[in-house]
Amino acid sequence: MPKKSREDEGFETRAIHSGRDFVGETGAVTPPVWLTSTFEYGNPNGFDYTRSGNPNFRLLDATIATMESASHATVFGSGVSAITAVVSTLKSGDVVLAEENIYGCTFRLFAQVFGKFGVEIRYVDFTDPKSLDEIKPISPALVWIESPTNPNLKIIDIEAVATATHEAGSTLIVDNTFASSYLQRPLELGADLSLVSLTKYTNGHSDALVGAVCTNSDEWQDKMIFAQKALGLQPSPMDCWLTMRGAKTEAIRMERHCENAFKFAEFLESDIGAKVWYPFLPSHPQYEIAKKQMSGGSGIVTVDFGRSLEDTLRIVESLTYFPKAESLGGVESLCCHPASMTHASVPKEVRESVGITDSLVRFSVGIESVEDLIADVAAAL
Ligand SMILES: *Cc1c(COP(=O)(O)O)cnc(C)c1O
Repeated sequence: MPKKSREDEGFETRAIHSGRDFVGETGAVTPPVWLTSTFEYGNPNGFDYTRSGNPNFRLLDATIATMESASHATVFGSGVSAITAVVSTLKSGDVVLAEENIYGCTFRLFAQVFGKFGVEIRYVDFTDPKSLDEIKPISPALVWIESPTNPNLKIIDIEAVATATHEAGSTLIVDNTFASSYLQRPLELGADLSLVSLTKYTNGHSDALVGAVCTNSDEWQDKMIFAQKALGLQPSPMDCWLTMRGAKTEAIRMERHCENAFKFAEFLESDIGAKVWYPFLPSHPQYEIAKKQMSGGSGIVTVDFGRSLEDTLRIVESLTYFPKAESLGGVESLCCHPASMTHASVPKEVRESVGITDSLVRFSVGIESVEDLIADVAAAL
């Protein structure tokens, strides 16, 4: 049988075998961590200083690029560093047209940092088809979406937004963190850039922070490499190594996250009668779009228990397997009460107008035995 080219291999094979070019002459099956700040001048791979490149970055770049079906990926110190790298390419007067339910730290960066430099941000609801007509007249430098969004898990039709963005001569960036590269590949759906907080599902073990920007454009890739070194946004070689190890099991973990989250969501909706948001439940408002662009519903389940603030907090605090913590995507389950945690700084009226009520809880469903997770919540209720 002829040897397959890398593009013909399956996702799991590529995630496990890509980027083995730096193994060197030792025969090591697992690459080392290159803990060095600098490199001797004139080395064959052209490394000079770790802020502008390190073998562990390059291994992870190659792995993430193939997982996202991208020609290029650039790794950064965190998802927020990756966002900073992209926004740093803009200039005063440029407009970003963003999804209104965008990730809180992206919102804060826009409002409190880049706004001061004259970048204008406008927000629309991209689940409303009329929003697509607003792109051309505004002529934004970037259209910025996320799907699913946090914490209400809105699903945005990436292909439709990509078409409208390109008709307006603009660039589409998708934050792919909540979906993961295994379940959704924005570049295949027409996006120009796919941004991933690898801290979450790719690392999968809650022990490192890394982010990445993926693209098929050589021009964007040059801008990302420049931002990595010029703004000092590089990750640590150790964190890249840990994330690369996580990437090898992303597919198999995501299968279990999806299976557990689906059963967990079904239990809360059918047995408890709570209001549940999960992209692969038929009750989800954008169920059809989710089915079209994702191969699984991912591991986040958002629930409105319809109880008082005190009651909701009491439920959350009595759980055994769901520590109350920010972040998501690790093997262990977590829960988050957005009104008192991630969105506490947002005024109550504003919070409620975007659907973040006092009784809303976001679960990051891990890969434990799902019966235990369900029994835990049942007991708390
Ligand atoms: C966590 C997260 C980020 C930021 O990533 P960090 O690695 O924590 O900096 C960006 N976007 C989304 C959707 C996230 O969930």
